Amino acid sequence: MTKKLLMGNEAMAHAALEAGVRVVAGYPGTPSSEIVETVAKLHAAGTAHDVHVEWSTNEKAALELLYGASLAGARGLFTCKQMGLNVASDALMSLNYVSVRGGLVLIVADDPGPISSQTEQDTRRFASFAKVPVLDPATPEQAFAMVKVAFDLSERFHTPVIVRPTTRVDHASAFFDVQEETHARPVPEEGFERNVSKWVIFPRRAYEAHGEINERLPQIAQAFATEEQFTAFNRMEREAGWGAASDVQPTFGIVAGGISAAYAREALRMVQARAQAAGLDVPPYRFMQIGTPYPFPEATFAAFAEGLGDVLVIEELDHVLEDSLTIWVGRTHASLNVHGKLTGEARDRGENDVDDIAARLERFLGLSGRLRLRRRELEAQGYAASPSEAAIEDLPVRPPVLCPGCPHRGAFYAVKQALQGTSAVMCGDIGCYTLGNAKPLDAIDTCLCMGAGITMAQGLAVADPGSAAIAYVGDSTFFASGMTGLANAAYNNHDITVMVLDNATTAMTGTQPHPGTGVTLMGQRNEPLSIEAVLAANGFKRVYHADPLDKDASIVAVKAAVEYEGPSAVIFESPCTQVSKPNAPVLVNPDVCTGCKKCITEIGCPAIGFDVNAEGMRSGNRGQSYVDPAQCVGCGLCLQVCPFKAITTLSAGDTVAFPAVEPEQGEAQKISTASDPHETPEEGGQDA
Ligand code: SF4
Ligand code: SF4
Repeated sequence: MTKKLLMGNEAMAHAALEAGVRVVAGYPGTPSSEIVETVAKLHAAGTAHDVHVEWSTNEKAALELLYGASLAGARGLFTCKQMGLNVASDALMSLNYVSVRGGLVLIVADDPGPISSQTEQDTRRFASFAKVPVLDPATPEQAFAMVKVAFDLSERFHTPVIVRPTTRVDHASAFFDVQEETHARPVPEEGFERNVSKWVIFPRRAYEAHGEINERLPQIAQAFATEEQFTAFNRMEREAGWGAASDVQPTFGIVAGGISAAYAREALRMVQARAQAAGLDVPPYRFMQIGTPYPFPEATFAAFAEGLGDVLVIEELDHVLEDSLTIWVGRTHASLNVHGKLTGEARDRGENDVDDIAARLERFLGLSGRLRLRRRELEAQGYAASPSEAAIEDLPVRPPVLCPGCPHRGAFYAVKQALQGTSAVMCGDIGCYTLGNAKPLDAIDTCLCMGAGITMAQGLAVADPGSAAIAYVGDSTFFASGMTGLANAAYNNHDITVMVLDNATTAMTGTQPHPGTGVTLMGQRNEPLSIEAVLAANGFKRVYHADPLDKDASIVAVKAAVEYEGPSAVIFESPCTQVSKPNAPVLVNPDVCTGCKKCITEIGCPAIGFDVNAEGMRSGNRGQSYVDPAQCVGCGLCLQVCPFKAITTLSAGDTVAFPAVEPEQGEAQKISTASDPHETPEEGGQDA
């Protein structure tokens, strides 16, 4: 064993390997991505033996692949973010009926906030919908332990098992004792065993299987309530309350799930300390974490609830535990009031935090009025309140933006320029390029889910034929969820234009490879899938290529594609700045800059700032733009946007000699870029 400081996601990867996982597959999505990457790193380091790990083209492909491995007797690990399970749900709903052979564990990371998602859906809800057990860790340590027991649970009850961490569990770090080397569990010698009546789902078999699922769920709930490996996740803790007699029967109960259990423990300590400082008694209470929310461990909760009159439920996302408690109260006719999201006593959305929970606990325990009075007394005596809240409110808002030099900026700018004066609806999609909606680019009108831009544009083309229907899709999303939409467009001859923003990686989630890169997660090099060939195979008869950092050529390509009646596409090709070498930064010539701000108001590169105090020959006292060389990657887009040629490239050692130039009318000067010349319609735009 060796001691390591690991993030929750890394720890779960280690746990799966120690549990003998043989096949690991998923699709990247924050906050889950590091799990698969950690397995790949350990495999590449030669310490994780006999494991196959891959990024699949999407979540459905990953889960179906893993189910095949499970039927051959291998243990499999699936990972995705919460919305990825929507994509994989078709497979999940059915495979639970067919039942698993090798243990199959799904780590589905939820994103309260949401911090980087379109929804705040709760995977515990999905688990009960699919009738699949779910484990809900409060800490990285619990996540590590839960992944290990999940494999045994899966094989014992022939069920897939979900482990559902949330962002803070995924990304918090702790020390772990982990095995230096791991070996996948051997698969049975006989491999897959043919059994049509078992592995082939037919209506009659589905009917029987549904009964089997209904029978095993109470057995699993019983295991959660009685077996030590699970009861450790459903711990009851009794507190006498500071200053209260220890033999007083508590009437208050606090139930928490997931990371909220960790927050609640800290908040309770905070409440105790505040009460102690104010000379107040805290009434006795019981606290319980429920780490196995579905199937609900009723027997454990029944013991916890004995003698209690009120229970406050603290959880993130949906009121899953609160529902279970309410159902239990209704069925048992218990004299217990359940408080939580449904009663307005807990946050109904977003992340919980310690301060908020502490305030709610003070109210719930009847302390807030007296604590407030005491605080006022202290303030009157000259004790200052905590400055932290005021300081936090003063922080500036920093919305997410495309990186300096991001090639998507050029693509959005070209599309907007090409469509000037044209009515158009621009359908976005999921990825960095969703940020094209921000001003000044303002180039996205809709965003729904992976791949939806292509198909939504088709609906708009049908219902609003007077507007050009534009769809943006990134290269990774193109392969993950875009291809069926392409086929639909060609099959029904929808008049749309798809802008494929090909930056040669899955940028948003950490530059993972995909089928278009030709490199697998295990380092194998295969023939990359051609986006152009896929478009052609799906019936797109007009496909143009453009370098998004070549403004004029890009505008020409977009105009040609939009003018074509029928499905057409522009493939914008330029690598993400995270996977390419930067060029020398550019420089604003103070003798030429007029302070017109066009470089800022047109493209919004964060490397360009404006100095209101700068004065120059042509700007007078209007102020001038400047480029932050630490951020600029020399993409060259701003050079093409400045109408006065005030921005220029600068290499190390260059002497700056800026020509005095007059502004051009309309179009900016075209410059050469590091990329190859691009195929434009004039240069032979492809008639695929
Ligand atoms: S060249 Fe201009 S647009 Fe590109 S990164 Fe530098 S400042 Fe931004
Ligand atoms: S667009 Fe050119 S002239 Fe105008 S502020 Fe920017 S650098 Fe200066």
